[in-house]
Amino acid sequence: MKWSISNFMAEWGEFTFGDEKIAPGSSCQTSIEVGSDPLGQSSEMPVHIIRGAREGPTLAVTAAIHGDELNGTGIIHHLIYGADHEAGTKDDHIDAKTMSGTLILVPVVNVEGMLLQQRHSTDGRDINRLFPGKPDGNHSQRLAHALFEQVVKRADYLIDLHTAPYTRMNVPHVRADLDKKSCKRLARAFGTEVILHSVGPDGSIRREASDGGIPTILLESGTSHRFEPESLECGVRGILNVMAKLGMVEKPYQRPRWRLLVRRFRWVRSAAGGLLHSLIEGGASVKKGEVIAHITDPFGSSVERVTSPVTGYVIGLATTPLVRPGDPIANIVIVREKKLQEIIEKDTAAGRRPREHVEAVEEEEVEDDAGSTLDETEN
Ligand SMILES: [Zn+2]
Repeated sequence: MKWSISNFMAEWGEFTFGDEKIAPGSSCQTSIEVGSDPLGQSSEMPVHIIRGAREGPTLAVTAAIHGDELNGTGIIHHLIYGADHEAGTKDDHIDAKTMSGTLILVPVVNVEGMLLQQRHSTDGRDINRLFPGKPDGNHSQRLAHALFEQVVKRADYLIDLHTAPYTRMNVPHVRADLDKKSCKRLARAFGTEVILHSVGPDGSIRREASDGGIPTILLESGTSHRFEPESLECGVRGILNVMAKLGMVEKPYQRPRWRLLVRRFRWVRSAAGGLLHSLIEGGASVKKGEVIAHITDPFGSSVERVTSPVTGYVIGLATTPLVRPGDPIANIVIVREKKLQEIIEKDTAAGRRPREHVEAVEEEEVEDDAGSTLDETEN
């Protein structure tokens, strides 16, 4: 079922962005100016706009607000050019001539952070805590302001792409304010197996945009400093799913294998310091009491057997072996035994890939009284 869209222009003409005028059925690669660097050269944020031939909503997609989180950039590249990275070939996913609405893609928000391979901006600040920004503030606030004014406010919907920090990995999942109907609908449309509820930290692009009436979701997928095929595929599939639901492209909707809407989850922490030998992978199903890792001394002898305190599904894992007492080892969503069995069966049958012929998705709301909410832990 397609959604009905009411808040776009009745007359479908060219899209104006800065000095650019983008005709229906065409695209434009341009940039947003964000002041100048210490050598006086213009600092710019690349922006790719695709104006569909027919009227429709405006969807914005932002990546690498955290400069070391690269999967989002890869997702945008693959969305437009396919795996061969050439325009106008068979594996392109988007064609302006057949598309409806407008796509505004920002493949790298934090350009200088990316060049330095770091999360923060060059002034050491986290841009994703400074939205909607300030036109006369510090460098990061100005950058946030430019993006918010020129991209976010012009969008009807926003998808913000992230990864876990380099010490951890995230199984692809969407984060959204599930108490906002429009955000929940967008999160479901994206089509990941797991959706986590959170309103997002103060000053994050997602929270500010959602509070401002622009439904926004965030994709967490994989880890930083690399392009990971599974994350890229998941991101492209999710954006196309959203575009299909919005009526922007005519593509079959790819359902998730199953679905969990999660309110609380459990981080398993190490009691001892040592070297982590993990026995599970992201996306593993674990039973309560199961040994999921060994913490060893420098010679490799186990000093602690880490067991799962719950039965559930692993959505996040530590990826570096150096562990201090209290360090997080695994992030586990609690799942009922019966649902877990269903997950195991569907994952096994699908080779852990989504199946296009899945007819219906059984959905379960998960709440763990002893767990943490994302807003207590998100950083
Ligand atoms: Zn991030």
